[in-house]
Amino acid sequence: MKKHLLSIDDLTREDIERILHRAESFAEVSGREIKKVPTLRGRTVINLFYEASTRTSSSFEIAAKRLSADLVNVKSAGSSVDKGESLKDTVQTLSAYDPAAIVFRSPSAGAAGLVARWTTASVVNAGDGKREHPTQALLDVYTLRRHRRKLDGLNVWIVGDVLHSRVARSNILAFTRMGCRVTVCGPPTLIPRGVEALGCDVSPTLEGVGEADVIYALRMQHERMTGSFVPSLREYAAQYQINSRRLGAGQLLMHPGPVNRGVELSADVIDSPQALITEQVQSGVVVRMAVLYELLAGAPTGAEAPIHPEPQPA
Ligand code: ASP
Repeated sequence: MKKHLLSIDDLTREDIERILHRAESFAEVSGREIKKVPTLRGRTVINLFYEASTRTSSSFEIAAKRLSADLVNVKSAGSSVDKGESLKDTVQTLSAYDPAAIVFRSPSAGAAGLVARWTTASVVNAGDGKREHPTQALLDVYTLRRHRRKLDGLNVWIVGDVLHSRVARSNILAFTRMGCRVTVCGPPTLIPRGVEALGCDVSPTLEGVGEADVIYALRMQHERMTGSFVPSLREYAAQYQINSRRLGAGQLLMHPGPVNRGVELSADVIDSPQALITEQVQSGVVVRMAVLYELLAGAPTGAEAPIHPEPQPA
């Protein structure tokens, strides 16, 4: 595996399989009373977040702590960024602590790649603008695999604001890499031009969603919208909301969170047994443990270290 995880494109299918396998072994650790392994003892992980986050920041924090790393959380609000310090200076300052990894979230597409150039630490992209969110896609693949062992040929529909969604981009790449057939669906104003080049189909309506094995709904990303992309949320919901009328009995429902209740999803489907939303959050911890493990402690390609050493109790 490469030194950084900036995009799903950094991973082969084999890399993804290895991360999923590792995450499964960490799920066993998470079931213990003492949920800790010594793997990253003495290593430092810095969570550097320039944008709001609940799930991603908390699960990376728990993941680093369960691997016994020393963790530092830096949020742009309240840091020297407020005093005008540049991203480069902030990264170089934090790199003075010799971190093993910097987990970085930013509102700017491509910013994680810049951070990787300014530090000797491994960089994990925890979401860069509307570009990518690779660990979200990995935890989604992990969650789905717990329900459908075979992903090859699975029909996945990603519905909603694809244009502003880094999750959509990473998930199209990850799901197709795992053999799924992916269709993106939403109002034409919210579908990026040329998205088919990522290997998915496009549907401007929900007609045909009944064929899906999995419906993956996206949040309306108001914070990234500069204009008006839909006439109104009510009209959007009328045409694209996943509700109990549109969710078939055998279909699984996913969403990266946070959910806008009553917009992309109706309250009843959020709370239905078909919804994997809470399970996706749980998967975030073990998958992020696996990513940190692979980047910081995994065997480099061709090295002799065992591929799947069992985690040892601390
Ligand atoms: N939590 C995800 C992200 O940070 C999805 C979302 O915000 O809608 O991209």
